[in-house]
Amino acid sequence: MTSKKPEHSADQVVIVGAGPTGLMLAAELALAGVACRVLEKRDHQANITRAFGIGPRTLELLDARDLAQNLIPNGNKIPQGQFGARAGFELTVIDSRFNYMLIVPQSGTEKMLEEHCRELGVPIERGAQVEGLTQRDDGVDVQVSGPDGSRTIRASYVVGCDGAHSVVRDAIGVDFIGKRYDTQLTLADVKLTRPPGDTVFARVSNDGVQLFIPYGDGYHRSVAWDRQRDKLPIDEPITLKELQDAALRMTGEDFGITEIRWSTRFLSERKQAAHYRVGRVLLAGDAAHVHSPIGAQGMNTGIGDAFNLGWKIAAVVHGTAPAWLLDTYESERHPVGEKILKFTDRLIRMTLIRSKAALGMIQGAMAMVAKNDALISKPRNLFAGISIAYEPHGQHPHPLAGKRAPDIEVGGHRLYEALRGGRFVLVDSTVDGAAARTADRRWGDRVQTLAGRIDSTKKLPALMLVRPDAYVAWASDSVESGSVAAVLDEWCGAPRAEKVSP
Ligand SMILES: Cc1cc2nc3c(=O)[nH]c(=O)nc-3n(C[C@H](O)[C@H](O)[C@H](O)COP(=O)(O)OP(=O)(O)OC[C@H]3O[C@@H](n4cnc5c(N)ncnc54)[C@H](O)[C@@H]3O)c2cc1C
Repeated sequence: MTSKKPEHSADQVVIVGAGPTGLMLAAELALAGVACRVLEKRDHQANITRAFGIGPRTLELLDARDLAQNLIPNGNKIPQGQFGARAGFELTVIDSRFNYMLIVPQSGTEKMLEEHCRELGVPIERGAQVEGLTQRDDGVDVQVSGPDGSRTIRASYVVGCDGAHSVVRDAIGVDFIGKRYDTQLTLADVKLTRPPGDTVFARVSNDGVQLFIPYGDGYHRSVAWDRQRDKLPIDEPITLKELQDAALRMTGEDFGITEIRWSTRFLSERKQAAHYRVGRVLLAGDAAHVHSPIGAQGMNTGIGDAFNLGWKIAAVVHGTAPAWLLDTYESERHPVGEKILKFTDRLIRMTLIRSKAALGMIQGAMAMVAKNDALISKPRNLFAGISIAYEPHGQHPHPLAGKRAPDIEVGGHRLYEALRGGRFVLVDSTVDGAAARTADRRWGDRVQTLAGRIDSTKKLPALMLVRPDAYVAWASDSVESGSVAAVLDEWCGAPRAEKVSP
């Protein structure tokens, strides 16, 4: 059956791709009351591992939606990070309640997000392949093929979360700029009968690099760069013997690799979309940026994109967004993607350097950096995602504006729990609490308030408006609350009409 006329769907937003980015975004939109649907070409849920590490900031974001607890019991907490073989560093020192990497197969994260979407009533259409799209003044026509033929769906906005080979990106003519590395890695989830320990194991030798990361369920992720085999055909199957032999040569031990539950040869890329928005079409996740798996940033950055974008599209759809808001998706997230690309590029180039002498020197230097807190804190905080910050909006911004919101207790309530409704949160620690009363009365449909004493040893502003994605929109040290109404108007749109007493 082929329909020529667009199906005028009731969905305001169509999301292409049910990977972690698309599912997270769909959940954000549904939480904000936006009708959306996800189109996914695969007819079944993914059963492959790919990404395996969820970083501290992503766990904070998931906690701000009460989702972190769905993953933590099934994951393995690794309190260290690793840059190169001798450069292990502590994550326990970072200022976060999630001061570790959580090792969970990507399929587990996707399953959790899909269940969450279903609870929120998001339709996820499988076997629906997007072939192209056409932008119009008032919407976007999406061409979809499936088992029943082709059809066209019209939506107000479309978000391409369709991965590295994005059809959506091509349809809007956005360049994907960058390069492919010529060094092949083998990625495998393996069972070890003699595991090297319960934390990250890394070894660099003249033969290559071997990493093992424990899932905590008897399996480890093996990441190996084997100089002898890094030019094999990409589709040549990986055998147990190959993995055993590589580990033995590179580390002197094969750790009893007995079973492979997933494996792939991987030629990573370093590419970024020139733009993240063209009209009513936006790009997120791997459709917008791809990096090497070393550094475990791919899925974390995609989930970060989804959190940044969801509340902004929702505000546009509901008619409460200021004119400047949707463009901040690209102005905020493109620089983050660029930073992550540079960071992972540096990591992979330092790890896979061909000159054995230079490799030794770099590994030695990295080991020294890792031991020095002043030197390691910047890359460590980027790895953990906690240093990501955005340009503040408005004149004379407070130093906290644009930064990650601290997870504070206010009047006995935790900020990240208050964010779980997906709305702005106004923190008012002034004595009279007048700002919170104004917000409750006039912006109560968009703003949650937290009033009371802040339980913290840090000096924090008296008033703070926190965005739904847990970044500070605005803050003020002054107890003057007169300006709050103007700030709420600027960020959250016009207030609802006040009831006039008869
Ligand atoms: C082999 C491999 C290993 C990796 N290992 C790691 C790792 O160790 N650590 C790490 O951090 N990251 C790793 N990554 C990257 C990580 O998996 C991605 O960053 C992450 O999956 C991005 O999520 P996403 O939702 O943006 O895109 P994807 O997960 O790629 O999801 C895109 C979805 O869109 C669907 N789709 C595509 N085209 C269409 C279409 N035309 N119509 C409808 N649906 C469509 C796809 O079927 C897919 O389900 C790896 C990636 C690969 C490929």
